Amino acid sequence: RLVVDSLGKSFALPGRRHGYRQVLAGVSFTAQPGEFVSVIGPSGCGKSTLFNTLAGLETPDSGRIGFGDETRPAAAHCAYMPQKDLLFPWRTVLDNTVLGLQVHGIAKAEARRRALELFDAFGLSGFEDARPSQLSGGMRQRAALLRTVVQDRELLLLDEPFGALDSLTRTEMQAWLQDVWQRYRWMVLMITHDIREAVYLSDRVVVLSARPATVCREVRVDLPRPRTLSMITAPEFAA
Ligand code: ATP
Ligand code: MG
Repeated sequence: RLVVDSLGKSFALPGRRHGYRQVLAGVSFTAQPGEFVSVIGPSGCGKSTLFNTLAGLETPDSGRIGFGDETRPAAAHCAYMPQKDLLFPWRTVLDNTVLGLQVHGIAKAEARRRALELFDAFGLSGFEDARPSQLSGGMRQRAALLRTVVQDRELLLLDEPFGALDSLTRTEMQAWLQDVWQRYRWMVLMITHDIREAVYLSDRVVVLSARPATVCREVRVDLPRPRTLSMITAPEFAA
């Protein structure tokens, strides 16, 4: 399981010799295998910084990130879909989805075999050799998600995976993600601005305060699955 304990992070203020902006002020939470956890919080509070730190792209100033028996660094267990996860326009969809594997030294043929196993579940069959520009917005997001899932890590970090989509496509993608998650049961941490989306998809919602971020509440979502959007009233979050 993932244990995030009192994470702190500050950045030097740009253009100044002295002074720091504190972004994370002791963020603590946990996640269990097979659990879907959403992270919400005001814009600029430090959500992406938190994920960058979990993924090992930023070093925390204080605190600890533990995963499982801690024989490997926590970042080695994470597959990260960043907020702006762009597909390379000049590569095919299949090539885009295996880049991460090849970076980790997996042979191209093996990487392709792994990715192709997921194409059907991700609704991308028949588009292996298409270019990203030939896909709809929803398909592009699914391809970016496939590129993350195919890395076969215990924890998926998804930063606003549907942020760029129109509301109709977004609703379709939420239903699809619930479906595919129920099938594979990944441990997921997902950042979203949409409280209904968080409640619809998650077992638990971690709410961050304004910057510097701390966990100000955690809400468990006890709705049966599969869920429908009409079940989501989110009274827990009413002002
Ligand atoms: P949004 O909801 O808009 O995506 P966020 O919660 O993801 O926001 P972050 O991107 O984590 O917020 O940024 C939090 C704060 O940290 C911002 O004030 C930002 O300017 C600052 N920040 C983030 N990364 C860096 C960096 N590499 N160097 C300096 N400051 C940074
Ligand atoms: Mg962000």
